[in-house]
Amino acid sequence: MEGDVVLHKYDVVIVGAGGAGLMAALYASRSVRVAVLSKMWPVRSHTGTAQGGIGAALGNHEEDHPEWHVFDTIKGSDYLADQDAVRVLCYEAVELVYELEHMGLPFDRTPSGRIAQRPFGGHTNNVTKQPVRRACHAADRTGHMILQTLYQQCIKQRVTFFDEFQVLDVILNEGIACGLVALEITTGQLHIFQARAVVFATGGWGKIWQITSNAHSFTGDGAAIVLRRGIPLEDMEFFQFHPTGIYKMGILITEGARGEGGVLINGRGDRFMERYAPTMKDLASRDVISRAIYLEIREGRGVEGKDYVYLDIRPETINRYFELDGKKSPDGTPRRITADEIKTRLPDITDFVRTYLGIDPLNQPIPVQPTAHYAMGGIPTDLDGRALKNENNEALPGLYAAGEVACVSVHGANRLGTNSLVDILVFGRRSGLDAVRYCRQTDFTKLPARADEPVRETLESLRSRPLGDERIADIRAEMQRVMMDYVGVFREATGIEKAIRALRELQERYQRVGIQDKSMCYNTDLLEAWELGCLLELAEVTAVAALARTESRGCHTREDHPQRDDKNWLKHSLAFRTEQGIELRYKPVTILNYPPQERVY
Ligand SMILES: Cc1cc2nc3c(=O)[nH]c(=O)nc-3n(C[C@H](O)[C@H](O)[C@H](O)COP(=O)(O)OP(=O)(O)OC[C@H]3O[C@@H](n4cnc5c(N)ncnc54)[C@H](O)[C@@H]3O)c2cc1C
Repeated sequence: MEGDVVLHKYDVVIVGAGGAGLMAALYASRSVRVAVLSKMWPVRSHTGTAQGGIGAALGNHEEDHPEWHVFDTIKGSDYLADQDAVRVLCYEAVELVYELEHMGLPFDRTPSGRIAQRPFGGHTNNVTKQPVRRACHAADRTGHMILQTLYQQCIKQRVTFFDEFQVLDVILNEGIACGLVALEITTGQLHIFQARAVVFATGGWGKIWQITSNAHSFTGDGAAIVLRRGIPLEDMEFFQFHPTGIYKMGILITEGARGEGGVLINGRGDRFMERYAPTMKDLASRDVISRAIYLEIREGRGVEGKDYVYLDIRPETINRYFELDGKKSPDGTPRRITADEIKTRLPDITDFVRTYLGIDPLNQPIPVQPTAHYAMGGIPTDLDGRALKNENNEALPGLYAAGEVACVSVHGANRLGTNSLVDILVFGRRSGLDAVRYCRQTDFTKLPARADEPVRETLESLRSRPLGDERIADIRAEMQRVMMDYVGVFREATGIEKAIRALRELQERYQRVGIQDKSMCYNTDLLEAWELGCLLELAEVTAVAALARTESRGCHTREDHPQRDDKNWLKHSLAFRTEQGIELRYKPVTILNYPPQERVY
């Protein structure tokens, strides 16, 4: 204890207890003292909601190769992914899935006892171009099983957890990361964690948009914290909309539903994806399908003229299209699915639909619309998770990032389904291992005096403001609406400019926001106000980067610049926060053996 702040000292401190944080913790804790800080109970992290599966070319049902996975990922990324990073992702995925199996993860099985796999969007047999079964799954609760398994392993390994500790700042001294400032949510006590290495694994920021599949806690804290400390954010203009969120609510219906044969149907009863992606149809990549849904709606072919379409997983529909597509089972007989099989393979989503819509998806189609889902961009890192501070790829000593908050970049302009779970674990592990290497070479860096002062001032200013006219919920709702309208699936310059003006006004209004709860214990009012500050900054960075990129690539569709422009835009953006506002710089994409081609699905 020093003054009124509690001091701790660990070799490695990890922020976040999702898949990325736990994997980093597991590996680092085999060699050094590790603490994991999480703003919520670890097993409530968003990783636990991942439904459909984790991608790895095991080839358990049919021929498959990691190299095919590499190509699909690069093509899916619209050639913006760094190809060295994609190789690491896809080759390490195979051994990683077996490692999870050996830790006890209860994967579904094939009749012969191997790990079961299902098709997912954009994953193909590179020769026939047909969907390949690559997603390893535990029903539609794959993320839940991963999180539980890793948490148990960390407990066994005696990793120290600080649950309900919210990190509000990273401490740098002479350009070296040396610790964190965190608030203990239950008491309001401030803590300083001194560390040789700090790993951010704080997840994404889908809460910037109105319709999102993301949990309430996905507020981009880690990304905003490092941005404020001079570290850039990479490729922020690329935020994925998943095609199938429950209408008006955004709650995700996994792509696994289409992997099992579900189809998208418009208001006229047509399976419209046949027109947009003649080969992959309902299993084209997410950017392609989300755009198609918007176009159908715009041309008046939404259901009852409204802004949604149907996802149909009724067995009779699936079997009809299996027959029309000539789908075969492994034994060569026509492929069929029963209602019981759907219930067993998709228990959670059938349940969600019953709970939230009051309909039985085995008897009625599900109303869906695209939902803000996944941040392709984030803290730039190298292949070992080291955070990079500029366009020359110089690392900031002691600072790491892994998982959705990081941008390695393996997803480029559009992520394929099942590749995030691989990413968080492969690069979580690599960050943990490299943090250990770094600890062995480096001593603790001295903490600067009064390192908690900036946080203290921010919290005091939020706490002491009078309760005026401005409310957190109003500003947040306005930001979400603006981002949905102007920086969503389709974008164009005038709209994005409107959004930027609106966001700057909202930031001014945010300076006057007052909070009702002045207490110390569980002051979620205060923390929500702080989180809104993070969201507003990330929203502005997203819009500014989106305005600058005058091309269409992956999920970033500019109606005023409809073509991909490799000559000028085959590059990653880096957004810096400066006194004058957001400054954009760029760095090249690593291309190895897959030069950009036209994307056809
Ligand atoms: C509904 C849904 C379904 C998905 N399905 C799939 C799928 O089937 N396959 C797939 O590959 N991907 C899927 N994804 C994406 C994938 O699940 C996520 O990208 C991934 O789990 C993120 O993991 P993470 O470890 O980076 O972060 P998370 O699991 O979100 O963990 C973030 C952690 O950071 C902590 N944290 C955040 N801020 C702070 C702070 N300020 N202080 C302290 N702690 C903090 C949180 O407490 C939490 O422990 C899905 C995503 C969603 C939303």
